Amino acid sequence: MTGWEFKTMVTAQRQDERGHWIALQETHFYAEGGGQPADAGTIADEAVHDVQQVDGVVWHLLERPLEVGTAVTAQVDVATRRDHSIQHTAQHVLTAILEDRYGIETLSFGIGTDDASIEIGTHAFDWAQIEQLEQDVATVIYENRPIHIRQLDVSEVDQTKLRKPTDRTGVIRIVEVEGLDYNACGGTHVASTGQLGFVHVTALKKVRGNVRLTYVAGRRAIRETQSARTALRTVHQTLSTTNETVAARVLEERNARIEREKEVKALEARVAKAKVAAFLQEDNYVITHIGKTEGETLTTMIIERIAATGRIAVGANHTAQKLILMHDGTHDIAIGKFLKRTLDDLGIGRGGGSHKQAQARFESVLDLEKATAEVVKRLQEGVVSC
Ligand SMILES: [Zn+2]
Repeated sequence: MTGWEFKTMVTAQRQDERGHWIALQETHFYAEGGGQPADAGTIADEAVHDVQQVDGVVWHLLERPLEVGTAVTAQVDVATRRDHSIQHTAQHVLTAILEDRYGIETLSFGIGTDDASIEIGTHAFDWAQIEQLEQDVATVIYENRPIHIRQLDVSEVDQTKLRKPTDRTGVIRIVEVEGLDYNACGGTHVASTGQLGFVHVTALKKVRGNVRLTYVAGRRAIRETQSARTALRTVHQTLSTTNETVAARVLEERNARIEREKEVKALEARVAKAKVAAFLQEDNYVITHIGKTEGETLTTMIIERIAATGRIAVGANHTAQKLILMHDGTHDIAIGKFLKRTLDDLGIGRGGGSHKQAQARFESVLDLEKATAEVVKRLQEGVVSC
């Protein structure tokens, strides 16, 4: 059985934009609260999408309505409950250690789909401290401390041991991690710290002047370390590195790439200069440059240099299927409007621009060539209305 099964009866139902909510005579579903998400499961074979407690009534969200008075069999999904209990109990342990050994208070807590997080009241916490914290948590896990849940009248509660004082009256649910934590809590927990398996911090982020620790526990921690290992293996195989050498190697690669980019830029500038010098041998009013294999940055560089000499520059880049028009601002042609009108007449490409520069993209090189030819023809013939 994957679920924890119980039989009961529908006692109320209501509907809103999320679906149909039903209340049961008796329920074992945990309603979202205290940072812990709702349980999953089924009621009369219908999936339970959410569980919320409103004014003491626990409502279960289903896709279809169930009539009041219907006898139903319900199943709480044990794997989800267990996972939530593990993440939540891990929070008790983290919070207790952080407070008792580091003097740092936990301000908030939440369980997400992939990980859980706590916001802690400190502006500085580093990875060396995280590693020590993980070791401290591991010790508590190995000690396999029992966790007791007791319903106590407030008069029976040891107020001096309570992690947070309570002003509640009547019966209080006390959760005690033996020798570590004594807390009023309505969440779900595992029976002993050994069941947490492994608690692993995945991220450390500054938020609102505090620090948010993101962590995973139990099977989530196993999945997380497996995924990190897969990523790292790919890096190691590609760069022939080990855990010890990878950081230095990645920095080296990055620096080499920055150097190469500088070299490429310098080469592009030389190529652009040479090409433009050749173009300027011709005394044309319009100069067209077709870049069939070069990158977009080189085409742009060449076009900018031609435009700077006072000509109208037309550049076609086949790789990006892009047309670039430019002049130095001394011409009367509003190049953006001119390009847009030409494209509209041809019924291809999308683009436009300002008075002195414009660009357009095309769905094929054929369209680009067609548009380039028409643009050049109109510019040379002076068919330009502005
Ligand atoms: Zn709890």
